[in-house]
Amino acid sequence: MNGIRKKKKAKTVLVAGGAGFVGSHLSDALLTDGHFVICVDSFLTGAAANITALENHPRFRLIEHDVCEPLTIDGEIDEIFNLACAASPPRYQADPAHTMMTSVVGTANLLQLAEQHGATFLQASTSEVYGDPQEHPQNESYRGHVNCTGPRACYDEGKRAAESLCFDFLRAGRVDARVARIFNTYGPRMQSDDGRIVSNFIIQALEGKPLTIYGTGKQTRSFCYVSDLIAGLLALMRVKPNPGLPVNLGNPGEFSVLELAQLVQEHIPTGSPLQFVALPEDDPQRRRPDIGRAQALLQWEPKIPLEEGLVRTIEWFATFADYNDSQGR
Ligand code: NAD
Ligand code: UDP
Repeated sequence: MNGIRKKKKAKTVLVAGGAGFVGSHLSDALLTDGHFVICVDSFLTGAAANITALENHPRFRLIEHDVCEPLTIDGEIDEIFNLACAASPPRYQADPAHTMMTSVVGTANLLQLAEQHGATFLQASTSEVYGDPQEHPQNESYRGHVNCTGPRACYDEGKRAAESLCFDFLRAGRVDARVARIFNTYGPRMQSDDGRIVSNFIIQALEGKPLTIYGTGKQTRSFCYVSDLIAGLLALMRVKPNPGLPVNLGNPGEFSVLELAQLVQEHIPTGSPLQFVALPEDDPQRRRPDIGRAQALLQWEPKIPLEEGLVRTIEWFATFADYNDSQGR
């Protein structure tokens, strides 16, 4: 190109769930890259505080909307990220039928919107499609072990149905749809009342309260720092050709709940003891992603080890001491 670099075209990107934990970080990254962002969010679990800094940005637009209702958007849309869905077990179990409808009807509505606009579509699926896995680590060919009638089914089965819809639209040539299976992700802007392990433990320790260990604490999870996940989501949205297969995105480091509690105690030495409480029904016992596909197709792998990400997250919670006021609208 005769030494002249072609200017990267600014895209218009719709982020459903853009006021949530992951969605607000994704919106930040897209704006930093020079794109236009349309955030669609019902503020079910998202927070106005997550996007306060963006609301006056000239390339940011907020539409308060429940994706269970169809939506039309004037103008062009190049890409749609569907992150709309409560992700924390207590939050998605609070209104399970709505959670299921969000994944099924909401995803169908957004796929139709993508079809109308010729937009590339990325579905935020989850490691929960593997349920309480009988294969370890989990790779994408494993079909899972989900209880379709239990309290987690509204989320797990909803996400499985959403994946199915994405591949139906893809096979029919209607939408260039991609599916990311996201494993436990943590970082700044997790909601303090959200009930997930990392935010619970950090807040409990900062307040000198007992860390609540569900069950024996021997169950494991693999924790991915949010900036690593965002890099993976962007890479999957943009990779050519479309892999046409789901892609695990997560950090393969595997830790038990007790190990995480110990790390938090070390970094927040307020003397918080451990308090053992009942294990929630259908709580998966093990979780670790095989990320071979993401490495091969996206040249992606996480960079932030758990301890480093945890320190950053602790600093954020400790700095935003008003975290208790930052929920909802
Ligand atoms: P979050 O709860 O912080 O964000 C979800 C956002 O979606 C919120 O802003 C919420 O208000 C919005 N929302 C929910 N239902 C909606 C509806 N019907 N209409 C419009 N907006 C709606 O959760 P998160 O951790 O940011 O997760 C984002 C996405 O990634 C979710 O789809 C989740 O299933 C998926 N995921 C997250 C993780 C994780 O560990 N964070 C793991 C696996 C999958
Ligand atoms: N957990 C826990 N104490 C808490 C919150 C969660 O021991 O205060 C456990 C929970 O039982 C699960 C793991 O931590 O085994 C991860 O829970 P989280 O809700 O963060 O995510 P998910 O179950 O969806 O993986």
